[in-house]
Amino acid sequence: MRPFEYIKPKDSKEALRSKTPTGAYIAGGTNLVDLLKKNIAVPHQVLDVTQALSDSIALKRGGIEIGAMVRNTTAAINPAILEQFPLVSKAILAGASPQIRNMASIGGNLLQRTRCPYFYDTSLPCNKRAPGSGCGAYDGENRMSAVIGYSADCVAVHPSDLCVALAALDATVVVQDAKGKKKSILFKDFHRLPESTPQQDNTLPEGALISEVHIPKNAFHKHTAYLKIRDRDSYAFALVSVAAALQIDGNRIVAARLASGGVAHKPWRWLAAEQFLAGKEANATVFAEAAALAVQDIQPLARNAFKVDMLKGAIETALQEALQA
Ligand SMILES: Cc1cc2nc3c(=O)[nH]c(=O)nc-3n(C[C@H](O)[C@H](O)[C@H](O)COP(=O)(O)OP(=O)(O)OC[C@H]3O[C@@H](n4cnc5c(N)ncnc54)[C@H](O)[C@@H]3O)c2cc1C
Repeated sequence: MRPFEYIKPKDSKEALRSKTPTGAYIAGGTNLVDLLKKNIAVPHQVLDVTQALSDSIALKRGGIEIGAMVRNTTAAINPAILEQFPLVSKAILAGASPQIRNMASIGGNLLQRTRCPYFYDTSLPCNKRAPGSGCGAYDGENRMSAVIGYSADCVAVHPSDLCVALAALDATVVVQDAKGKKKSILFKDFHRLPESTPQQDNTLPEGALISEVHIPKNAFHKHTAYLKIRDRDSYAFALVSVAAALQIDGNRIVAARLASGGVAHKPWRWLAAEQFLAGKEANATVFAEAAALAVQDIQPLARNAFKVDMLKGAIETALQEALQA
């Protein structure tokens, strides 16, 4: 690890003012410290935002606001989230380990970097870590890689479980730019596809802070499921994951939300399948048809064709679990 200056600003204004172009914010440190140790992140200044940002959760008429410094565990066991946004709790609890969730913040979770092995091994080519060096995974070890939305420059997947739930629930990310001005970014526009600039994971302006996440009120609280398939039962990132939420009236689906992790450079919404489900009867045949529709555009790489059937089954099962929740 290289030496750096450590600063602990008392509020967001001071944090934004103090940050230099080569500085990095640190919250829980569960991702940044790994990147520092491997010389993948080499900031000359580290700004600890644990005092500078909100760690409160506020239930409002239009939805819920979760401060960027709320720890993942705190969010997962918050009574308002458990009652009205249980998908968020289920997704957080499917990720990492209790110790990591105790440290990890909501803001940091959104900005954690891919777990693609080529990104973490500095002896291998990776356009995301070293732009222009190539993508080792494209024709290499791509078992964990993307199956949709990728480019020849990058096949890495977004690793967060929480973000899959936030994508399904149409969350908004509230950010404060370098001048302190607040603006909201729709979750669907926050993470980006790799295209020819995979080094940019998201649309957060340079130097900006995430100040909170807002989830609009919805009618999906009764029927939600988060299904994560991984190599080990805990402490592993998703091969594929599915967040499913249903609004049900009698046995009819009023509205559906479906999103996945482990499939693309950003949390992926299955919009055609959602549209197909709306207005249909909630039953196994309809769920199977929705899953088939979702996977029809998938283009797996050489070593991850297994994800197609896995995903199809996971979507069917998640919808069934959501119905029975
Ligand atoms: C062994 C292991 C297993 C894991 N398994 C999973 C898993 O299964 N599922 C899953 O979802 N996650 C998993 N994680 C990832 C973990 O959830 C993230 O590391 C964590 O959420 C990041 O939060 P943090 O507060 O520690 O971020 P930090 O490490 O502090 O920061 C991460 C990044 O965000 C930036 N940052 C932090 N806060 C802000 C802010 N408010 N505004 C602007 N920039 C900010 C930092 O500069 C840094 O670039 C795992 C991590 C480990 C180490």
